[in-house]
Parts: sequence; structure tokens; C-alpha cells
Amino acid sequence: MEFEPFRIKVVEPIPITQREYRVEKLREAHYNLFFLRSDDITIDLLTDSGTGAMSSKQWSAMFDGDEAYAGSRSYYKFEEVVRNITGFKHIIPTHQGRAAERILFSILGGKGKLIPSNTHFDTTRANIEYTGATAFDFPSPIALKTDEIADFKGNIDLDKLESFINTHTKEKIPLVMLTVTNNSGGGQPVSMENIRKTSEISHKYGIPFFIDCCRFAENAYFIKQREQGYESKSIIEIAKEMFSYADGCLMSAKKDGLSNTGGFIATNLDQIAEQARVILIVTEGFITYGGLARRDLEALAVGLMEALDESYLSYRIEQVKFLGNELQKRGIPILLPTGGHAVYIDASKFTPHIPSHQFPGQAIACEIYIEGGVRTVEIGSLMFGKRKESGSFQPSNFELVRLAIPRRVYTNNHLLYVADVIDRVYKHRQNLKGMKITYEAPYLRHFTAHLEYIS
Ligand SMILES: *Cc1c(COP(=O)(O)O)cnc(C)c1O
Repeated sequence: MEFEPFRIKVVEPIPITQREYRVEKLREAHYNLFFLRSDDITIDLLTDSGTGAMSSKQWSAMFDGDEAYAGSRSYYKFEEVVRNITGFKHIIPTHQGRAAERILFSILGGKGKLIPSNTHFDTTRANIEYTGATAFDFPSPIALKTDEIADFKGNIDLDKLESFINTHTKEKIPLVMLTVTNNSGGGQPVSMENIRKTSEISHKYGIPFFIDCCRFAENAYFIKQREQGYESKSIIEIAKEMFSYADGCLMSAKKDGLSNTGGFIATNLDQIAEQARVILIVTEGFITYGGLARRDLEALAVGLMEALDESYLSYRIEQVKFLGNELQKRGIPILLPTGGHAVYIDASKFTPHIPSHQFPGQAIACEIYIEGGVRTVEIGSLMFGKRKESGSFQPSNFELVRLAIPRRVYTNNHLLYVADVIDRVYKHRQNLKGMKITYEAPYLRHFTAHLEYIS
């Protein structure tokens, strides 16, 4: 039996609410769970981003933060840790992942540019498209089959990538990306072989290769568990090898940095680093803090190493699997196998009577909140669907509801409660109604959209 490799030093009460209250709050929130107040949520599985619990070592390191504007000792600690793990020459801190994205794509993006990936995360895609460039996803074909078990469903389709480069010419493709683990593709890992071959293909055409490495430690753990030749390597050795194939990476340290905020760009490309530092100073802050308090860099320097600890990773991945198993025992369709940071309910199978353009995932997420005060997030056509100019609707590849597990926050008893809540929703699933959007913003509409039930 696995148990938590830590004991609990500080506790925080969680709100318990009544059903009628939640019905009212959700209506006030325009049926968008992002508009709920966290005081009205019992178990919050909206995201694993910046929601983890820090260790006593991280809190004590923060006290030692050197708040100097320039040349802070905390930056050099952070830089050393990131350089040790990634091997990259230039380490540029940002306040979170999307700031790193905005900076990189304002250098490499722009009108007419095409940027392929296994699957771009929502903010990555938005930051690419905001510059006028176009984002392309080439998930491996098996990734689209939610009930088929495979070791590395996060892989990019290498043949598609190469023929894409050939069709569009390398001049139009400023970089190739890989997201590890593949968040929007179900938190599924990418194999070392796939990372290496993506690197080979990119470099054959002289195109830089960057890793979106938010969950590099979880990905490294899966490689150790599943890929031949890595059984007896340490997690940090595997992580180092992953980064060795790339020219740079973008990180949201709110994930495997085990921190509540932070991010970075790290790269070997001098020219890009130079341009990035200029933009950093204009928009984020000086090069030795990049929009963070220096104490945050201290928390990151400790957190990034804690995330590579094998007993932590084993607990983490097993806890996600635990929730997946409990849902499966109750007959609830989920994306298989469970990934690194979340369990994904397959909304197309949960409510087959609700078509994509009526946002089945959102209907389920709303009902889960009403049923038990559990907050989840739709990853489907509300997040990724598009209305074409012709007026027709292009759905997302998947209709999912993501249950993201914050790091070191909830116990398995909390997750059993979640499984029972979802079980109750599943039992009356045929009563769930489709939804429509009544307001949407031009980018990342899911964050601020207003919705209504279709009567
Ligand atoms: C969270 C995330 C980002 C964006 O990072 P933020 O810190 O939320 O801005 C980018 N890519 C992936 C894969 C992520 O999970």
C-alpha cells in the first residue's frame, strides 16, 4: 500500500455548502466554473497549476529570499538548479508559463508562421495565434482513442510532423514544440524515443526544437516506469536526457516547480535569449527576477528538486491512478490510462445524447458542482471548439472533463468523496441538458464565457 511520503503540518478548513446554495451560485456564475468563488467550493480540481502545497523546506527558503532588484542571490540559486536540470545556458525567469510563451512567440511567431506540436496547451495556442501565427496539433493517432491503453499516448505523430515541414517549407516554421506530459491530450507522457526523433527531424531541417516542460518530472517518471532502458536510471538523469535533445524549453513552474507561481524560458540559443531579455525587461521585470518576488525563486529552487524525488512522484502518479480506478469501478468512462496530473472523464461517452456544439463536458462539470461542490474543468469544445466563418461548428478532438489533482493537497478520502459525487451524477446522466454560449471573448473564451442551458 502506497502512502503519502510526508506528514501534514498546516491544515486549512474546506467549505461545506448546500445544494440549493450551489444551484444559485452557479447561476450567478453564468454556468462558468471559473466565476465561482473558491469559498463556495468543497473540493477544487479545477487545476493543478499553482495550487500545490509547499514543503517546510520551501517555506523556510522563502524567508531567506534576497529581494534585491538586480543580482539577487535568490536568482543565482534558482539559475543553478534550472541549469543543473535542463543543461541550458540562458535561464530567464517569468511570472508564469504564459509570460514565457508570450515572450518567445513575440520573437518567433508572427503572421504566416506555423508552429507544430503534439498538442498545444490552451494558453500556448492563444499566445501563438495572438501574434498572427497558426498553431498545429499532431497527436499520435492512438491518442484519439480514449479507451485504448498505450504507454505513450502523448507522443507526436512523427510522420505527420515531417510531411508538414516538407509541405510548408522550413522558412515558415520557426520552431517545433512538444508538450510533456501532454496536458490537453489527457496528461499522457511522451517517450524518450519520440522526444529524440522530434529533435532529429527538427534539426534535419534546421528548425529549433522547444519543450513545453511544465510536467517534465512526471514525464520522466513515466519514462522510467514504461520505456525500455530507463528502469534503473534516476529521474534527474532521465530529465537531463529529455532536455539534451532540445534547444530550449518553456516552463510553468506552477506545475512541477511545486510552487504557487513562477515560470521560465531556458535556451541555448544566444540570439533568442538576448531578444527575450529585452522583452522581459520591458514587460516583466529585470533579468534576475522576471516578474517574481525573489522569495518565489527560492521556493522554486527547492521545489524543482523535490519534484524529482522518486517517492514523491510515485505517490503523485499513484494518487491519480487511485481516483481513475475508483471512477472505473463505478462504471464511469474515463480516458485510459490515467495520466500524470489528472483524470479525464470521457464526456462523449458519459452523455452521448449531448452533441459537441452543446458542450457535454461543461454540462457534466456544472452538474458535478451542483451535486457535491466539486469543481472540475471542461477540456473540449468550449475550450477548443471553433465557429468557422461559414457559420459551421468545428468541434474539439476530445470532449473531456478534467479532474486535476493539486500536488500534496488532498487525501485519498477526499478523492473517494469526489468519485461518489460523480457516481451520483452518472446515475442521472440522461437528465443532463446541453448548453449554449451567451457571451464569449475572442481568445481563451472558456475563462470568461457566459452559458445557459438549452431548454
Ligand atoms: C499551465 C500550462 C501552461 C501555461 O502556464 P501558466 O503558468 O498557467 O501561465 C503552458 N503549457 C502547459 C502544458 C501548461 O500545463
